[in-house]
Amino acid sequence: MARYTGAVCRQCRREGQKLFLKGDRCYSDKCAIARREYAPGQHGQGRKKISEYGLQLREKQKVKRYYGIAEKQFAHYFELASKKSGIVGENLLILCESRLDNVCYRAGFGMSRPEARQLVRHGHFTVNGKKVNIPSYIIKEGDVIALTDKSKDSPKIKAVLEANEGKTIPAWLDLDSNAHSVKVTSLAKREDIEYEINETLIVELYSK
Ligand code: SF4
Repeated sequence: MARYTGAVCRQCRREGQKLFLKGDRCYSDKCAIARREYAPGQHGQGRKKISEYGLQLREKQKVKRYYGIAEKQFAHYFELASKKSGIVGENLLILCESRLDNVCYRAGFGMSRPEARQLVRHGHFTVNGKKVNIPSYIIKEGDVIALTDKSKDSPKIKAVLEANEGKTIPAWLDLDSNAHSVKVTSLAKREDIEYEINETLIVELYSK
């Protein structure tokens, strides 16, 4: 799967808002958005007149970048969201939020989504007792995600857990810090996703 390999902060600058892709740095004055709040590239500071299509496209790109999802997979999520009952845009965001890498990030097992994704890839987590190393794995209500016994002793993971101590965990997750595990008590709801996202624009884009 093709992945973006350029400078991560450029993605935030392109979207004009923080996407929190670099952990601690995102909360410091080293954040590129705080220092250069304009789009990257030669015309980044130019006058911008954005079309309706442009707005819809940017909203889709922003959500893809928040969650680190490739185009094809995102389109697939849209298809799944359309088939579910309820509001398509909300279904889409809830699907993104239900990815294993996102849940690990939300639970404080990674400083950023990209880091949580890498930890999942490297086999540091189990879901209901079975090792799962697929970042896009969609969790269900009642699932328990835990660090493997070996990973609990990893200095890198210990440092992440320490840094995230006291982090606010979403209400739909029940963290057991002693067991290094988190239970999904319910799926996320739209109001649990605090980012500035206008999902209606994405639905309009895909409905053309
Ligand atoms: Fe985005 Fe974080 Fe880079 Fe700031 S530091 S521009 S929030 S990735």
